[in-house]
Amino acid sequence: MVIAPGRARRPGAGRAAVEPPSADELERCPFCEGHEERTPPETFALAGGTREPDTPGWSVRVVPNLYPALERQEVVVSTPRHARSLAELDDTEVELIAEAWRARARAAAADGFGYLQPLLNEGREAGASLPHSHTQLAWLRETPPAVAGERTDAGDCGVCELVAAGRNVIDERDGVVVLAHPAGRLPYELLIAPREHEPDGFGTRLGTALALLADSIRRLHAAEGASVPLNAWLHHGGHWHVELLPRLTVMAGLELGAGIYVNAVSPEEAAVALREAAV
Ligand SMILES: [Zn+2]
Ligand SMILES: [Zn+2]
Ligand SMILES: [Zn+2]
Repeated sequence: MVIAPGRARRPGAGRAAVEPPSADELERCPFCEGHEERTPPETFALAGGTREPDTPGWSVRVVPNLYPALERQEVVVSTPRHARSLAELDDTEVELIAEAWRARARAAAADGFGYLQPLLNEGREAGASLPHSHTQLAWLRETPPAVAGERTDAGDCGVCELVAAGRNVIDERDGVVVLAHPAGRLPYELLIAPREHEPDGFGTRLGTALALLADSIRRLHAAEGASVPLNAWLHHGGHWHVELLPRLTVMAGLELGAGIYVNAVSPEEAAVALREAAV
């Protein structure tokens, strides 16, 4: 990873302002409450009281991905209202997403899947095909290569080292830390991790991590504009953590061909900018 400051002072500068959703966007949205018949039948939902499946009255709704690339892939609709980003959700709503992920992790394990990969794509350039806030769950038979390749064994753990070093910390809540990654591939790459070396990513602190993820996206929007495309994902099994990768610059030949990432924003600058940004 190469820091090349000055290539672009603010990588998000010049991004278009976000228009409110049009009547057409709202009418077409398959994830809004009242449009339940436009998705495949739900596999899980969080709802208060009695409710028939695939009817209004839910808080979080899980449906199979209409175009799965893998054996099983699910969409977790974050909220019944038409929010376009996790940043528009409050802590109570975000906690319910954690609860839904937890329930589906148990279901995946019971069905013999060895690894549940939760992920978030926001913005078309980051791979989101629908604007209504949602996360995805990829049911995998085995631990994926990105997780297997991380050094996260107790006693020799890269995440423990980063958290203990305490450099470029942006936020901390209930034992979960947000920091600018020292080897960020793209501007503002963040790591959200518990201080303790915990393998189980679906424990009680997951809600805190997702609340901090929502806060981090709010900070990013304040610093670089509300149309920042981004990817985030949970890694678990070693020292669980959430990684947030804003997609302000594109990966080109050097990045993809040589695996050398030229980052215009140093982790020090990223930490200062996001710390000062409004949540
Ligand atoms: Zn919607
Ligand atoms: Zn660790
Ligand atoms: Zn990771």
